[in-house]
Amino acid sequence: MENPSLGALDPLDRDLVDGVLAPGAGQRRALAKTITLIESTRADHRQRAQQVLAALLPHSGRAMRVGISGVPGAGKSTFIETLGVYLIDAGKRVAVLAVDPSSSVSGGSILGDKTRMELLCQREAAFIRPSPSAGSLGGVADKTREAMLVCEAAGFDVVIVETVGVGQSETTVAGMVDIFVLLQLPNAGDDLQAIKKGIVEIADLVVFNKADIDGAAAERGRSQMQTALTLLRPASPNWRPPVLCVSALAKRGIPEFWAEVEHYRATMSETGEFDEKRRRQSVAWMWNLIDSGLHQHFRQHPAVRAALPGLSHDVAEARTTPGAAAQRLLSALIDPSGSDLPKE
Ligand code: GDP
Repeated sequence: MENPSLGALDPLDRDLVDGVLAPGAGQRRALAKTITLIESTRADHRQRAQQVLAALLPHSGRAMRVGISGVPGAGKSTFIETLGVYLIDAGKRVAVLAVDPSSSVSGGSILGDKTRMELLCQREAAFIRPSPSAGSLGGVADKTREAMLVCEAAGFDVVIVETVGVGQSETTVAGMVDIFVLLQLPNAGDDLQAIKKGIVEIADLVVFNKADIDGAAAERGRSQMQTALTLLRPASPNWRPPVLCVSALAKRGIPEFWAEVEHYRATMSETGEFDEKRRRQSVAWMWNLIDSGLHQHFRQHPAVRAALPGLSHDVAEARTTPGAAAQRLLSALIDPSGSDLPKE
């Protein structure tokens, strides 16, 4: 693959790239430093991060990308820990990243801090990174997506992206992973919520956790969900999302879960949908970045900044229409000389 920015790397960043690519003692440190660079909002860091990413990109793409979502308390971190340890025992290297919408809004976090997944943390073959805390959900997710590529370049076989079942974050995470898993609690309220919010529609696999507490309730939930899923149009004609019962705490159903993930990968690879989905996700990601870049450029434009408060007020007071105001503001970007907004 052509990689024009490789030559432009400064020696410090060259070291980061080499450190990420080299298995061994220094790799974890290089990985953490690279992700910190990616998460920085400084313009010069952003530029360096893009160059480092460009150098790492040809080495990425080999991991299985697994998204895991569920309401707080569903057992996500317990499940990821049990799954992670299982995969590591099977000889794989596992990275865990998070997209936490709450951390970008309030500075607080639903997904919790680094003390979670203590057993997994101790494993040499695991890398766990909490959600980046700055910026909008879009910003947080973009950084997680980039961190995922860095983990892949470092040779992790499985990258798990965890998110919480609130707001937009599920759709965002589903848009960056190969398989999106919904973790459910075995009670009808939780199922209905997920169905109502349209989360079930984007799930490739549904898992009822805590089956150890009440096996019958879990089985009831499983069969109701399976029925509900038959009413939805599947994302792929070749895949009906399976519904499983597990216990993350009692470590039951984990091999069966992973077998379904591998089955999904094999089925989708056979039909070409696996690569096609990644291609679509990459192009959609580019458009997201274009949208947010344009938005930022628009907001920072001096003429827009000068006119925005007045025009917003006029729209709120119905002195002008939203359409007319938007057109005036946008004309400053499209044709600054022809714009009738005040100049700098
Ligand atoms: P998260 O908020 O989705 O990350 O949920 P946690 O993993 O923190 O789990 C919430 C609570 O449920 C904790 O007290 C866990 O010990 C418990 N839990 C998680 N999985 C299971 C399970 O399979 N069975 C039982 N009985 N409890 C579980």
